[in-house]
Amino acid sequence: MTQETFLIVGAGQAGGQAAQALRENGFGGRIVLVGDEAWRPYERPPLSKDVLLASSDDDCFKGWLHEARFYAASAVELRRGAVARLDTAKRLAVLTDGQALPYDKCLLATGGRARQIDQAPCGARIVSLRTLDDAMRLRGLIACSRSVAVVGGGFLGLEFAASANRRGLQVTVFEQAARLLPRALPAAVAQKLRSKHEAQGVRIALDAGALQIEAGETDVVIAGKDEGAASFDFCVVAVGQIPNDAVARASGIETGNGIVVDRYCRTSDPHVYAAGDCACFPFGEAGQPLRLESWQNAQQQAIAAARNMLGQCCAYRPTPWFWTDQYDWNIQMLGLLDAGIDRWIERPAADDKSMLIGLRGNVVVYAVAVNQGGDLRAIKRLVEQAVPVDPQQLADTSVKLRQIERQAGACGIDTPY
Ligand SMILES: Cc1cc2nc3c(=O)[nH]c(=O)nc-3n(C[C@H](O)[C@H](O)[C@H](O)COP(=O)(O)OP(=O)(O)OC[C@H]3O[C@@H](n4cnc5c(N)ncnc54)[C@H](O)[C@@H]3O)c2cc1C
Repeated sequence: MTQETFLIVGAGQAGGQAAQALRENGFGGRIVLVGDEAWRPYERPPLSKDVLLASSDDDCFKGWLHEARFYAASAVELRRGAVARLDTAKRLAVLTDGQALPYDKCLLATGGRARQIDQAPCGARIVSLRTLDDAMRLRGLIACSRSVAVVGGGFLGLEFAASANRRGLQVTVFEQAARLLPRALPAAVAQKLRSKHEAQGVRIALDAGALQIEAGETDVVIAGKDEGAASFDFCVVAVGQIPNDAVARASGIETGNGIVVDRYCRTSDPHVYAAGDCACFPFGEAGQPLRLESWQNAQQQAIAAARNMLGQCCAYRPTPWFWTDQYDWNIQMLGLLDAGIDRWIERPAADDKSMLIGLRGNVVVYAVAVNQGGDLRAIKRLVEQAVPVDPQQLADTSVKLRQIERQAGACGIDTPY
């Protein structure tokens, strides 16, 4: 049996998933999973949705990655602590309390942290949403408030806005861009989403400019470019995240928009890998440096990294997929909006369902579906296999996507990533 020790830094989704994948792929050595949160690994998507919407504090969180007994049963040593740096020559991780942990191979799965804005003062009423502790704090604030300002109209801000609206709060979203989600959604879908929020009573202030934010004892006062000062019971700052690459930087490992890895999740140090929100990897044929912040990436890149740590040759080639839940809409996106799309096809559907597909030439490169995510499976294979399709057929909803997929010759096997 191998005596090797694999150290995973960061006990979040990617870290926990990697520990599981190491065992599932037959690793019999020691696995040490070090995390600086008080909790065992959990998934973050419920934090902006179910946790805020649940009527009772009891049992409002069900997002644990594993049952508690998984760690003992799988001989995964879960340790609380913060790693400061790696001594890559000695293969030692140095914790902030001075302890040293030896490793043979190390996975950095340190995720990201909420970006702050310069003009926002600190205070109990100005909160970010990244951790379970943040979400519980926000639950408390929601319960005793009537109004909230959301700074940032990205997915996180809008999910929070939808949840707070459902909980009966007056919600105002301040967004600097001239429209919602310019890098993630086509304009038509973003406009529908804005209308959806406004129909529920959420106020969306676009092109808000630099905000002046003042925290008082009992409220937060915010003034925008064209807005007079308004008072809110509290304020949520949701202006994106910053990758946690401090350990890599302190260890002389290459960084740049996160921790730089190759297709095999290897960093510039031969014994150190990285995965999840913290990792910047080469994407597509051109190897465009890309860092994804999504549940799918945390799961699948962690699995790829674990397999590569075990000596398997497992290139990570994802088809990016992301979902968001707001009110009764489930929106799913496949591919990247900046994939050189030169033509849009709409597959209209009844009620609150719709799908918009982006083509480059006759090849599908992107799709967004509202309340019909199940149909994206066929689209995924078309994207992955880059087979040309007939755009007229694609627009014809009497033709099933599975049929188009078969005619295009896309084989019905799902690729692992
Ligand atoms: C509120 C919220 C809602 C989301 N909703 C969706 C959604 O609907 N759909 C979707 O696809 N994605 C969603 N995401 C994104 C998704 O949850 C993340 O991409 C995913 O959690 C990334 O996992 P990770 O393991 O890379 O990072 P994390 O989950 O951030 O885990 C990293 C862990 O490492 C710890 N750590 C950092 N540095 C150190 C150190 N030096 N020493 C020890 N520990 C350290 C951190 O504290 C953290 O616990 C959401 C994210 C948030 C915050």
